[in-house]
Amino acid sequence: MKAAPQTGPWWVPLPPFSEGFVVPVPLSQAATIATYVLKQRLKGNKYYPLVLMLEPLFRCNLECAGCGKIQYPDHVLKRRLTPEQCFKAVEECGAPMVSLPGGEPLIHPEIRQIVEGLIARKKYIYLCTNALLLNRKLDLFKPSKYLTLSVHLDGLSDEHDFAVNRDGTFDTAVEAIQEALRRGFRVTTNTTLFEGAEPERVRAFFDFLTKTGVEGMMLSPGYSYSHAPDQEHFLGRRRTTELFTRILGNPKRAWQFNQSPLFLEFLMGLREYECTPWGMPTCNIFGWQKPCYLLQDGYASTFKELIKETDWENYGHHTGNPRCANCMVHSGYEATAVNDTFGALGGFLRTVKLTIFGELGEGYRQRPVPVPVLNGGHADCNANCSSGKIADDTHTCGCGNGASGCCATTKTEPAPAGK
Ligand code: SF4
Repeated sequence: MKAAPQTGPWWVPLPPFSEGFVVPVPLSQAATIATYVLKQRLKGNKYYPLVLMLEPLFRCNLECAGCGKIQYPDHVLKRRLTPEQCFKAVEECGAPMVSLPGGEPLIHPEIRQIVEGLIARKKYIYLCTNALLLNRKLDLFKPSKYLTLSVHLDGLSDEHDFAVNRDGTFDTAVEAIQEALRRGFRVTTNTTLFEGAEPERVRAFFDFLTKTGVEGMMLSPGYSYSHAPDQEHFLGRRRTTELFTRILGNPKRAWQFNQSPLFLEFLMGLREYECTPWGMPTCNIFGWQKPCYLLQDGYASTFKELIKETDWENYGHHTGNPRCANCMVHSGYEATAVNDTFGALGGFLRTVKLTIFGELGEGYRQRPVPVPVLNGGHADCNANCSSGKIADDTHTCGCGNGASGCCATTKTEPAPAGK
């Protein structure tokens, strides 16, 4: 399955107060983002973009089951944005960070020109790649504080190769990561977690990535792409928070995430946020996609038009829009977490505390809680069940919601070992 095109750190600039504390992004980047957000807030601008998701093409050299892009017909897959179209979109949008997902951007014949042009414009770029071509294409680029190679890895070897439908992909990506680090590039990883992910395996995966020396890891629950061939493995909201609680409930100190810790708490169900999809607008060969990276309710021809003409009040979990009901993806909610960091003293102090002391999920550690056991299958059952009842082993909670039995059992278990 395809990785979520993660988009870079929402991380807050803080000095290293404690021994062993590592700043996961250059301070200049953190300062640029903080200054930008504060300026927007002072101007009273609600609909400001933080990261432009710029898809220069949809074609890819993998065919992941969870991907919503590669199913386009060949005449669409042949199309791509020119460097000039990319620069126009970036200037129009004004976001300080640009994510280059796809498709596989390294296939684009003018990717070097695109990256160089964005660096010249002082944009912090996240070049998202499955890394199959990375080793061969590294010579196209020069290490820069503005350029981060964001490598798609959905787990350790078995899990990742299964997710992308090709053996050996994990090893190739890890070799490319090591070579890129050796040459002085900034490297992060992006991971999408789907139904069936095993928390202990994911934690071992984080240990592995930490040892490789990557700058940070980025996470997202799987996208519910309507075009994706595999529709069974997208996570519902409740199962998302269960899974992320079990993975992140007791994080190890060495783990570095290039994401807002408030967003990670949101994934664990420890805070409630509304979607702000304009924070990460998507531009591709069709135009500016309404309203977000996942849904395609038409296209605008300019960024201004996107902001002006999209009925934003129809989107987000709180609206009751069924297509948003189970969504917790970073492209909708991470900008909200950043806004919380800079818009409210409580959010800022919480971010500071989490960043310095790494106390993500402290409430979970202090008090072992009933943890639903993920049995797999019937992903929608828990999400749709309004009774609040949890099924037993026989899958008979009696909630009568019409789904074919419930799929979660509970047991009280201690938090996973951390530190
Ligand atoms: S909730 Fe998800 S699907 Fe709905 S608008 Fe936000 S990002 Fe898009």
